Amino acid sequence: MKTTQITILGSTGSIGLSTLDVVARQPERFPVYALTAHRNVERMREQCLAHQPEVAVMVDPDAADTLRAALAAAGSRTEVRAGAEALAEVAREPRVDAVMAAIVGAAGLLPTLAAAEAGKRVLLANKEALVMSGALLMDAVRRSGACLLPIDSEHNAIFQCLPNGYVCAEPVTPHGARRIWLTASGGPFRDRPLDSFAGITPDEACAHPNWDMGRKISVDSATMMNKGLEVIEACWLFAVVPSTIQVVLHPQSIVHSMVAYDDGSVLAQLGNPDMRTPIAHALAWPERMESGVEPLDLLTMGKLEFSEPEAARFPALGLAYAALERGGTATAVLNAANEVAVDAFLGERLAFSEIPAVIATTLEAIEAETADSLERVLGADRRAREVASEYVANLRQAVS
Ligand code: NAD
Ligand code: MG
Repeated sequence: MKTTQITILGSTGSIGLSTLDVVARQPERFPVYALTAHRNVERMREQCLAHQPEVAVMVDPDAADTLRAALAAAGSRTEVRAGAEALAEVAREPRVDAVMAAIVGAAGLLPTLAAAEAGKRVLLANKEALVMSGALLMDAVRRSGACLLPIDSEHNAIFQCLPNGYVCAEPVTPHGARRIWLTASGGPFRDRPLDSFAGITPDEACAHPNWDMGRKISVDSATMMNKGLEVIEACWLFAVVPSTIQVVLHPQSIVHSMVAYDDGSVLAQLGNPDMRTPIAHALAWPERMESGVEPLDLLTMGKLEFSEPEAARFPALGLAYAALERGGTATAVLNAANEVAVDAFLGERLAFSEIPAVIATTLEAIEAETADSLERVLGADRRAREVASEYVANLRQAVS
């Protein structure tokens, strides 16, 4: 049996947990080389004892010290490393075959890029990395011969619906594919009266009707910025222009996306909303493996509905299209402003209804440059964070 040694970046998060659940079904086939987290010591301790990775990385140095002591006391042989540089180290480690990129936000960019440069099988959940630096990441994949496989359920579905001619190291516009239908659940506020949006609380925004996810992506799903980021992600992954992609509301989250062909055929991938399906697909590809997901029962499934998203309800989606049209570093600016706004909303320093204005203002304030170097991308990210943070602070002052 061929083994696939794996590093899981962001193992303590929602995608990290689902990934460990899938690999633990075949531990001889998927030995874990490294697990990484920001600072959740308790969960990392449990994961190290259960999965016995060679290395555990905690970005926070104090958390690394606490983990080291806890693992030593439990007799574990896992080596603990500290700091953000250690993330890229365990991503490019020569013995590693596959890297699950499941850190949330811009913090995932450098280790994801390191995995791509080192020619790994990159299982990409960290969509923000691609939104920030699509050109650089896809270039690294092509140069190294890495295999980039999408974990985002929609993109994984599209990948499964594309013809066999799709080569993951070298994405090409799929022959005869006329339109990509990108499905969106519409999140928890699909039917909520618009005039009540200002009072939305973080817990309400994080209570997604179909998916159980980390808090940042849950808020993104509620604003539909998540779908905006996914449109950008799809353009890079499948080398298509934005007009090829049509977002469609599908409240049941059963059809994960579709590809329409010239001859009138529409291919869809269906399944229960559980991230273990795309994770198992990408881990085993081109084979299939058991994921633990309940099979879909068509007899009891009920209705599948589709409709057009309302622009006024989801202004963040339009902002993502605008950034995509500007190109270059504009999508890195969009992403950074969104991260600042979501963080402020979760910290109760910004109203839910003010999130789009933070992003729009930041996009207006910063001119897009070509995104041809990491320095430029990181520079745009930094400036956008400054502008967005200042805007949030000024809003608060105006209120108080
Ligand atoms: P999460 O918040 O549950 O987990 C995030 C992980 O990243 C944790 O392990 C955390 O320790 C780590 N992390 C956070 N900040 C970090 C930092 N500064 N440095 C290093 N590590 C850090 O998030 P999630 O829901 O698992 O999402 C992870 C990624 O996958 C996101 O990019 C998200 O958009 C994408 N994604 C998630 C889902 C889902 O169902 N959860 C679906 C599709 C795509
Ligand atoms: Mg998705």
